[in-house]
Amino acid sequence: MINLELLKQAVMDSRDGITITDARRSDLPIIFANPAFERMTGYPLDRLVGHPCGIMRPAEDAAADAARTVLDDGDGCEATFHSRRRDGSRFWNEVSISPIYEADGTLTHYIGIHKDVTQRVLLERELRSKTRDLATANAELEKLVALDALTGIYNRRHFDERLAVLWEFAARNADPIALFFIDIDHFKHYNDAFGHPAGDRALVQVAQRLAEIFQRGSDVLARYGGEEFVVLASGMAREPAARFAQRLCERIEALELPNPEAPGARLTISVGHIVVTPKAGMRPAEALERADRALFEAKTSGRGRAVGAVEVA
Ligand code: GH3
Ligand code: MG
Ligand code: MG
Repeated sequence: MINLELLKQAVMDSRDGITITDARRSDLPIIFANPAFERMTGYPLDRLVGHPCGIMRPAEDAAADAARTVLDDGDGCEATFHSRRRDGSRFWNEVSISPIYEADGTLTHYIGIHKDVTQRVLLERELRSKTRDLATANAELEKLVALDALTGIYNRRHFDERLAVLWEFAARNADPIALFFIDIDHFKHYNDAFGHPAGDRALVQVAQRLAEIFQRGSDVLARYGGEEFVVLASGMAREPAARFAQRLCERIEALELPNPEAPGARLTISVGHIVVTPKAGMRPAEALERADRALFEAKTSGRGRAVGAVEVA
């Protein structure tokens, strides 16, 4: 059996606070506290003994109420209280409480081991807050990385990523995908005639109008290059795609931006499109190339018009 003197020495010299409370009284008065507990709380032993163990804890501490409930059931518990020292300053007290029973099973005392974990709690809080900030910043960054700085619609990088995903999806479901390549006509002349800043404003207007037209969640509109836009419409069949391409030309003309080639005329776009039902082994780049070829045809056959790819894969 261990020497009682040694046991006492261990309790008195422990770096953790140790308390014993009387479990037979409902206010759980402290009957013993070691020097480490005195140092932790700033209370001398004579101010602790006989006082309820809640002496240090502010009334609103919900953790203490939860701990009390567990203790009332006769179990031990661990809890972290936001406690108050004698001088009013606050600290985080991590307590492990164990019940002590007599041989006949009567609960007589609780022994509490207390640690001041303030540094750890503050660090954890800071870390949590930093992690939250970082997650928000990441989400913002992800959005920015996907968007075109001038027009605010998606950029080419994002479009290619979405196309790859939706292409696989369409291939699995044997759904058609319509791809539209849109290019502003004689835009170099537009800049020459009205200045680059006016050209930028026109690009923004065209992008906004396209965004109005393609509003379905499954559509992806992006600025693909300088004055080129691209649209992916999932599930759109050939007939509606052709009508749509035509409508795009009309709606952009309806912006009534000036045509640099002819006084009094309106700025136009050319559109090339393809409707394709992806199959295994077919790459999205091939479909894009065909839509681009259709655009070229629209350009060479007079501009301001829409051409659909003849061959459908
Ligand atoms: P086409 O009808 O054959 O398409 O003629 P185009 O002049 O539109 O075609 P081209 O590809 O020769 O020139 C595209 C022009 O678009 C060149 C450039 O001045 C203009 N452009 C590209 N990006 C921007 C931009 O961010 N802002 C402005 N203002 N102009 C741009
Ligand atoms: Mg171009
Ligand atoms: Mg052009």
